[in-house]
Amino acid sequence: MPNSLNLYISDEHEMVCLGGVLAAASKLEGVIYLLGGLGAGKTTLSRGVVQSAGHFGAVKSPTYTLVEPYELEGGSIYHFDLYRLADPEELEFLGVRDYLNGGALCLIEWPQRGAGWLPDFDLEISIEVELPGRRVALTAGSPRGESMLTAAGKHYGVIDP
Ligand code: ADP
Ligand code: MG
Repeated sequence: MPNSLNLYISDEHEMVCLGGVLAAASKLEGVIYLLGGLGAGKTTLSRGVVQSAGHFGAVKSPTYTLVEPYELEGGSIYHFDLYRLADPEELEFLGVRDYLNGGALCLIEWPQRGAGWLPDFDLEISIEVELPGRRVALTAGSPRGESMLTAAGKHYGVIDP
């Protein structure tokens, strides 16, 4: 089974839809890394995940609080933004590891900043600006990640996965 997939996501709405596809396939468990520079679309994709799981309010990057929890009917989602994390050890002091111990879906923006202190990813998503849209590369790191990748491939009509 291929463990990577490259998609062209042409606008913000499509990005939100991709989030919905991934949320459904994840069954709201696992770890998703979101890579890409400022303005790439990491939070937009996260919003698609969180809103499709039943949260109808706003979804913003938790830049200062590091993590925003969403307790939803189908499960919990923890949305991290580690951009301002000065030292990965801070994760330990904040008790953030408790969020990462399974039974929830963790979306992690800027996982590089938490290197060594985060669980491995099920799915890594790397986003690059390619106007007018975004180039989105998905890499699976586990069977759960592979099912998310397969769902995305089917949704976008990719022949193989
Ligand atoms: P990040 O969290 O990576 O800093 P955001 O999710 O805040 O980035 O998105 C930055 C901008 O990119 C927003 O204005 C959003 O509308 C736009 N955007 C997101 N996804 C796409 C896309 N697939 N195509 C075009 N614009 C997008
Ligand atoms: Mg963001």
